[in-house]
Amino acid sequence: MPLMCSFGQSNVSLATVADFDLILRNANVVLRNGVERSDVAISDRIIVGLRPGLLGSGRTEMDCTRLHVLPGVIDSHVHFNEPGRAEWEGISSGSRAVAAGGGTCFFDMPLNSTPPVLDASAFAAKRAAAEAKSVTDFAIWGGLTPLNLGQLARLSEAGVIGFKAFMSNSGITDFSYSDVATLRAGMKTAAALGTPVAVHAESEEMIKALAAQRRSRRGSTAREYLDSRPIAAELEAIRIACEVAGETGCDLHVVHVSSAAGVELIAAQRTAGVKVTCETCPHYLTLCEDDVLALGPVAKCAPPVRSAIERRRLIKTVMLGHINTIGSDHSPSSPELKEHEDFFAVWGGIAGAQHLLPLMIDLWAQRADPDWPLLARLLSTNVADRFCLPSGFGRIAVGAEASLALVDLAATEEVTTDRLHYRHRLTPYAGRKLRGKIVRTLLRGQTIARDGQSAGEPTGRLVVPQSA
Ligand SMILES: [Zn+2]
Repeated sequence: MPLMCSFGQSNVSLATVADFDLILRNANVVLRNGVERSDVAISDRIIVGLRPGLLGSGRTEMDCTRLHVLPGVIDSHVHFNEPGRAEWEGISSGSRAVAAGGGTCFFDMPLNSTPPVLDASAFAAKRAAAEAKSVTDFAIWGGLTPLNLGQLARLSEAGVIGFKAFMSNSGITDFSYSDVATLRAGMKTAAALGTPVAVHAESEEMIKALAAQRRSRRGSTAREYLDSRPIAAELEAIRIACEVAGETGCDLHVVHVSSAAGVELIAAQRTAGVKVTCETCPHYLTLCEDDVLALGPVAKCAPPVRSAIERRRLIKTVMLGHINTIGSDHSPSSPELKEHEDFFAVWGGIAGAQHLLPLMIDLWAQRADPDWPLLARLLSTNVADRFCLPSGFGRIAVGAEASLALVDLAATEEVTTDRLHYRHRLTPYAGRKLRGKIVRTLLRGQTIARDGQSAGEPTGRLVVPQSA
């Protein structure tokens, strides 16, 4: 007979002789196309049973009657800056934030670590740092810049998830932006390698001219910064990136799209035959220009967040399924870089990895009939499919990895800075009361976070794309 005890938010029973390592009993399981009441049995890191009233016992059993179980979040866009710039953020603190927020995997961007991931040795250095410190799985983006076009094949061989290019100044001196000729050459090579290219899409020409004009005439305030990076600059860059992708056959992913017009342009290009997908981020869906004016540097990012009307338009495109993935674009800096009189000189990046899932649950919960499977696809399944992760990632199914987020949708939790795992406890979301609470995060059946507290040792593994 199992021994019953209370364990965190759920009742847990412990059996002496068991058929499975763990059974989640009577959970609301969020599948690709629906939510079903089911037990979930886990053994040897894998989901081995998925049905209501599952026979057999688990060494540990959790009553999940009040909980929803989602595939663990795969955050395809973070900047953890290690090695070399860990004073901004680190892999240990960053991955713990991901885990506390229901995440089981992150994809780290190439540009803020030193050296940036522009060749195979920098890839190896980042891999070693993450294997030593990450509590979640991870993948690594390589850079595409004018200086490393000859390194792309080696990076692809090493296992990068894709190449990241900037179409405007990256803010980091050793990661140059790509002009059209560089983009064309890089995309041609990437297409031959079968590796996707992600772009930061803002027209350098347009924003440079507008910034100079605004600063000389009106000063360097937050309002002028917002106006110097209009939606038109995003659209111009998306248009060019799609044109070059179409020309070269490159598999393109446009990161952090901030406008519905951008999403629609990408959808039209896809219909016209260009291989292109897109991502948006929680800040474009939950903040607007008024928040930047009220909160200041903590809410500065590029492209900037838009007006409340534009935000509503973007949310609509998300709910219609026109966006492929949602990533946090967690991009913090040292606090000093966020303190500057000149708003243009402030570091542009928002810390958000810990609240990617909580913010999106809250957004979904505001709808009359929340489509939870859509949320699971945007944060996990689509990411796994888009970037060709091994088949066990990003889904709840027999045979899949037991990497899961357990969520109490009836609870409400306030965002407080003392519960942040980031190296610097800065967030534009402090004080928000969000519906839903991440109760537990499992990585291959092992608890890596519980009630917002990190609970795991660094057991994260490198994830490399499988051939498409
Ligand atoms: Zn980014």
